[in-house]
Amino acid sequence: MIVSLVTSELDNRTYLVIDGETRRALLVDPSFDTAPVADAAREQGVTPEAIVLTHGHIDHIAGIPQLPWRDLPVWIHAADAPMLSEGMLNGAFLFGLTWEPIRPQRLLAEGDVLSLGRTRLEVIHTPGHSPGSVTLAVPGGDSLIVGDLLFHGSVGRTDLPGGDQATLIRSLRRITGRFTDAAVLPGHGEATTLVAERRFNPFLTSWLKM
Ligand SMILES: [Zn+2]
Ligand SMILES: [Zn+2]
Repeated sequence: MIVSLVTSELDNRTYLVIDGETRRALLVDPSFDTAPVADAAREQGVTPEAIVLTHGHIDHIAGIPQLPWRDLPVWIHAADAPMLSEGMLNGAFLFGLTWEPIRPQRLLAEGDVLSLGRTRLEVIHTPGHSPGSVTLAVPGGDSLIVGDLLFHGSVGRTDLPGGDQATLIRSLRRITGRFTDAAVLPGHGEATTLVAERRFNPFLTSWLKM
């Protein structure tokens, strides 16, 4: 199961991925407000084994130092790993935060499979919003945790350092080419589906037919 939590004034979504059988869990993108994460984990009776990051922007990593669990391993795509060491790179300075460097324990790459008992998450490299943005796919195509690649009615911005619109479009094409439908769990805002976004998202409707 995937528990969705609202964790910032930017409507960030943090996800707690829990394997129903083993109760093993992974935490995706802890944002500024970590109280909902701690509450949900307590309610579910789980302790995350690792923090998986869809990318390295401050609003997806800010909660790491505040979580109630010390020294959880942090996993991020190699291309965004430098953002964990530099507040100038991850944007912490924009929020007036000083950033203590974090060293990732694992560098994610295309095709990696993160296993939690029978629950599996496949890492798909979907750059464009940032160089190391990834989508986490629950095999079977049920759910896609897309970070800031795609939102309900919108797409990730590409005007930040390392962003690139042509690359973002290629990533969107890969996802929509590979999955017919899936629940889309974005880094901000409410969940949606690929079918709905293909139909109504103005960016997808114009880009995907090119
Ligand atoms: Zn971002
Ligand atoms: Zn974001």
